[in-house]
Amino acid sequence: MAICILQEMSHPPNFGAALSGPPTLIHGVGEERAALLGRLKITTVQDLLLHPPRRYEDRRHFLSICDLRLEEPATVRGRIQAAGIKSFKRGSRRMFEMVLDDGSGRLHCRWWQAQSWMETWYVPGREFLVFGRLNRLKPRTMDHPETEWCEPGDDEFIHANRIVPIHPLTEGLSSRVLRTLVWNALEQFEKDVAEPTIHPDLKLYPSRANAIRMIHFPNEPADVEVARQRLALDEFVKLQSQIQGRRRRFQEQARGLPCAGNNQLMRPFLSGLPFSLTSSQTRVLREIRTDMGGPYPMRRLLQGDVGCGKTVVAACAALMALESGFNVAIMAPTEILAVQHYHQFSQWLKPLGMEVSLQTGSASGKNVESPPAHPPQSAPIPPSVTVGTHALLTARIELRNLGLVIIDEQHKFGVAQRESLVRKGHFPHLLVMTATPIPRTLGLTLYGDLDLSVMERGPGGRGNIKTHVRGSDKLARVFEFVRGRMTEGRQAYIIYPRVQASEEDGDVKAVTREFQKIQEAMAPFKAGLLHGSLTTREKEEVMAAFRENRVQALVATSLVEVGVDVPNATVMVVENAEQFGLAQLHQLRGRVGRGSHESHCILISNSLSDSAKARLDILAKTTDGFQIAEEDLKMRGPGELLGQQQSGLPELIFGNLATDMNLIHQARNLVMQEKPESIRVLDNSKAGQVSGKA
Ligand code: ADP
Ligand code: MG
Repeated sequence: MAICILQEMSHPPNFGAALSGPPTLIHGVGEERAALLGRLKITTVQDLLLHPPRRYEDRRHFLSICDLRLEEPATVRGRIQAAGIKSFKRGSRRMFEMVLDDGSGRLHCRWWQAQSWMETWYVPGREFLVFGRLNRLKPRTMDHPETEWCEPGDDEFIHANRIVPIHPLTEGLSSRVLRTLVWNALEQFEKDVAEPTIHPDLKLYPSRANAIRMIHFPNEPADVEVARQRLALDEFVKLQSQIQGRRRRFQEQARGLPCAGNNQLMRPFLSGLPFSLTSSQTRVLREIRTDMGGPYPMRRLLQGDVGCGKTVVAACAALMALESGFNVAIMAPTEILAVQHYHQFSQWLKPLGMEVSLQTGSASGKNVESPPAHPPQSAPIPPSVTVGTHALLTARIELRNLGLVIIDEQHKFGVAQRESLVRKGHFPHLLVMTATPIPRTLGLTLYGDLDLSVMERGPGGRGNIKTHVRGSDKLARVFEFVRGRMTEGRQAYIIYPRVQASEEDGDVKAVTREFQKIQEAMAPFKAGLLHGSLTTREKEEVMAAFRENRVQALVATSLVEVGVDVPNATVMVVENAEQFGLAQLHQLRGRVGRGSHESHCILISNSLSDSAKARLDILAKTTDGFQIAEEDLKMRGPGELLGQQQSGLPELIFGNLATDMNLIHQARNLVMQEKPESIRVLDNSKAGQVSGKA
């Protein structure tokens, strides 16, 4: 699909139609082969042209068999001298072996499970290419090599004397056949590959048609990367066009509700706070106020590392809407966090005469009365704040007169959820907050339709956090240290990766099993247990006990990862730290260092292999969330960081979100300079996706 749409940009819509035709249009593809291609998810000509090789083989020079070296991958070319099945272990195992000769020496090729077709395929006298690693020198032997029959014919120039592509295959479709089909497809349809007329900058790259040829049949090894970059750029351009187009359409349809407020509530709120806002917080609030008084609904992402004080900014934004006579909805990813926000907002806003209610799935416990369904005309109800979890998304919950939607910890929600909450109002303003420092590459891709505010510094006067990496043999000393802090009046988190112990991962500790031990180790201090399998009431109770310092050690799963704020807790112990992603550990660490006391994060791992240690040491070295996220992205790929977001991402064949930072920037610039008309054409497949009426 991707490419069709791009092509429509510069040509009449049906010009590239051939490319979206079925593979049977290609010489050599009948119904049978079309079905085989279907198994590789190739259902159009274009799919085949964009089926990327998984590796290449330089067949300009082959290695002589006598020059093969142990364990080094190589390709040789020779004739079969002998071939046949060998039985052993009383015939219960049948191995197939063939011997290849290239004039310099002999190579034994073995397959440990003989297949019936082998004897009729590996016929003495036939010439074969063999790719593999030598696993024995005397005699020279390769087990399970890849092979290709150099069938006599006039298509030798496709398969030899060049760098050839080896494509991902499926049973019944050999390398050679697939390569021939790709070649044929290029011959027939290269002329139909349109060049998107985007920008002169693209001249730095080969044309799209050329890039497609080069990715399959490069002249030099270096051509492959050049071609890949060109094709990746096209993918990113399409992605950015969709994002920008969506945004433009949104702005055409939507008018911003007047929500800049009049400071009537804001002034007493700010003077009642025990601290004054940091310059970072003030700057972000100014950005928000401009948006909320502007012509379009705000679509803003507030990114700020854990503990930098986003909640109070959210409260100020809420006040602006309330002052302007509109209601506010706040959605958080977990009940614990929703309840915490509910308490915090109640404490802040109720003294100002504002209503705050809570809506969670299981326990719409306290104060469930959302605004009455049919307000009497005469008595206008005052604007109010509704805090909740996903429960807010259910149809049952009506959110009237919505002026502002705030979503905390955005990365836990998908784009679809975000939009379905927004749709409960008539183009309300939207503020999404995240503590996950999304590396810029991903940010531009995922949140390209949002304006970005970044909060750099945490509030002053915070204790700093020391991070330590320890082997599990030091556990007793770590607990002793924790007790020491408790004696000084502080509290601690002790985190485990699992709720229940399981057979499979014997070494990985589970919170339910360790709880007893911790209780004993911490006595006379009290420990509380928190994990996802508890009921809402139980979770609330243990959180309340911890918040009020009736419990000093909170033994938990990563459930406390997001947003929990207990300033008196100064120690974060994570057992089996190797089980967590770096970004996740960074979030966990962010639970401490929130008060004025010095804080400690102790990462315990029982497998301190070099790589595990190197990973954890990154955390010990830096508290810069962005750097940590970049490292995580490199080591674990984008999945971890994206969470549910990932589902909203189109499949990239050539682009790589973790490493193609430059290309993503380039694509964004190209699209920003584009005329709106061509972008609209480009994005017509997704028309209306974001509009309130969709
Ligand atoms: P996060 O950005 O992770 O959501 P929070 O909003 O939970 O961070 O804030 C962390 C802590 O910092 C809270 O206890 C909050 O009251 C406090 N805080 C926020 N802003 C300031 C400030 N300007 N000065 C001092 N403390 C602040
Ligand atoms: Mg928060």
